[in-house]
Amino acid sequence: MRIPQPDHGATLAPDLVHTPSLGPGSPAYGGAIPHPDELTRARFLSQLRGIVGAGAVVSEPAALVSYEGDGYMARSRPLAVCLPTTTGQVSDAIRLARLYGFPVTPRGAGTGLSGGATPIHGGLVIATSRMSKIREIDAENMRAIVEPGLVNIDLTRAAEPFGLYFAPDPSSQTASTIGGNVAENAGGPHCLAYGVTTNHVLGMEAVLVDGTIVSCGTMASSPDAPGYDFPGILTGSEGTLAFVTAVCVRLMPRAETVRTVLALFDTFNDAGAATSAIIQAGIIPAALEFVDGVTIGALRGGGFPEYPEGVEALLLVEVEGLSEACAEDARQVEALLAQYGAREVRVAASVAERQRLWRGRKGALGALGRLAPNYYIQDGVVPRSRLVEVLTKVQDLAKRENLLIANVFHAGDGNLHPNILYDARIPGLTERVIKAGEEILRACIDAGGTLSGEHGVGLEKAAYLDWVMSPADRATQACVKRVFDEGGWLNPGKP
Ligand SMILES: Cc1cc2nc3c(=O)[nH]c(=O)nc-3n(C[C@H](O)[C@H](O)[C@H](O)COP(=O)(O)OP(=O)(O)OC[C@H]3O[C@@H](n4cnc5c(N)ncnc54)[C@H](O)[C@@H]3O)c2cc1C
Repeated sequence: MRIPQPDHGATLAPDLVHTPSLGPGSPAYGGAIPHPDELTRARFLSQLRGIVGAGAVVSEPAALVSYEGDGYMARSRPLAVCLPTTTGQVSDAIRLARLYGFPVTPRGAGTGLSGGATPIHGGLVIATSRMSKIREIDAENMRAIVEPGLVNIDLTRAAEPFGLYFAPDPSSQTASTIGGNVAENAGGPHCLAYGVTTNHVLGMEAVLVDGTIVSCGTMASSPDAPGYDFPGILTGSEGTLAFVTAVCVRLMPRAETVRTVLALFDTFNDAGAATSAIIQAGIIPAALEFVDGVTIGALRGGGFPEYPEGVEALLLVEVEGLSEACAEDARQVEALLAQYGAREVRVAASVAERQRLWRGRKGALGALGRLAPNYYIQDGVVPRSRLVEVLTKVQDLAKRENLLIANVFHAGDGNLHPNILYDARIPGLTERVIKAGEEILRACIDAGGTLSGEHGVGLEKAAYLDWVMSPADRATQACVKRVFDEGGWLNPGKP
């Protein structure tokens, strides 16, 4: 890829690296956490400070707590965290960690929900919070080159004056980073029509496990580039193959017209059936989101009165495009919603109203924090035609196990997010919650779906991979890992 290269400023001589290839991710290693003696640790930290600067190394136990995990429940303390500002520093830090035999875990904003950024084998965490520059916005060719620590929404804000935006919009977009989005192949409400992150990545700069800096993909606005599709392989690889240091992304033009429709339903079933009906009618809305009564209650309590009281489910549907086509799609959507039992169909009357509805939808997970101190969110996918069946199973499970489960999800994609709300301080409850989560995922698989729509496998779903992959499938995946990182140094513990 012809991404303009920054000054890499390499400071470690290449011959410093002669680490054995056996790392914590290698089965023969046995997964032991490396515990260096004090002298080794001090020498490592001193050399790390030499690479990134003294103010860019975190090693105090109290400060390391923030880097122990993400939104998933697993926690593990790293030996140190470094906050590089250049690709060269990332390369040197990885080589130094290899030299000492420490694994490396890449980290963005830590909003992941599957334990991807949890340094389960300790070692060095390299966080991208100081690599957040936009290197270039090429409005004419509708693309941008950004550093991995750039917060998702900041790219759209920067592209706004050109009438452009970055389409993947995870609900975490005000916090999560482009690097994290790429590593998890993030989705979002508006990915139904435009595709998930991988559909918007054109090229990449990345650091391999031996510190080599490589470029792949293309800078042209067409996604076709000579060679294997490395950006495709790295996107969604959860930080296990390479450390991404720059991404060339596609930007999209803003639609001429947008209509946002809110449909209120008395039953789950009707909302599920309306979802299928809209897609079957050949309309692909820009977004089609499902919010259940539990979530609506939390949103109302959290200052979103436009989310109405006393309904079991609502659909938030957005259509966009050229004015006339958009008006026609909206008319069809409204008719279908009414036909499938919507008690009321409202159209957002202003930009401000639309924005508030989306702020509520994207803040739903935060609002659920009002109902319980902990949540465990699932990410199963089912064929849209089986949505109602699986949601019913989730409701039955909640009743049987006496658990509070909220549902707020990307219905158009069939990407369920049953969210088990609980209090981890109650003895034995976390184990019951994990079991219930497993049962939900099993129901998704049994319905012909899969384990993850967007949150990744991480630590959370590693044990369930055999449900969806044969031994041959897993062996093939392992081959790819071996090509990039034979010893398992990068983000070990994640399949
Ligand atoms: C409230 C809330 C709402 C959410 N909504 C959505 C949603 O709608 N859609 C969705 O897909 N997800 C959603 N998520 C999950 C999460 O925000 C995404 O997975 C996001 O992409 C993670 O980005 P991050 O910067 O926080 O990455 P982190 O959590 O820090 O890391 C995620 C993974 O990426 C790897 N990684 C990070 N940076 C790099 C890099 N530079 N190079 C290589 N690997 C790297 C890490 O090792 C880890 O495996 C939500 C989370 C929350 C808390």
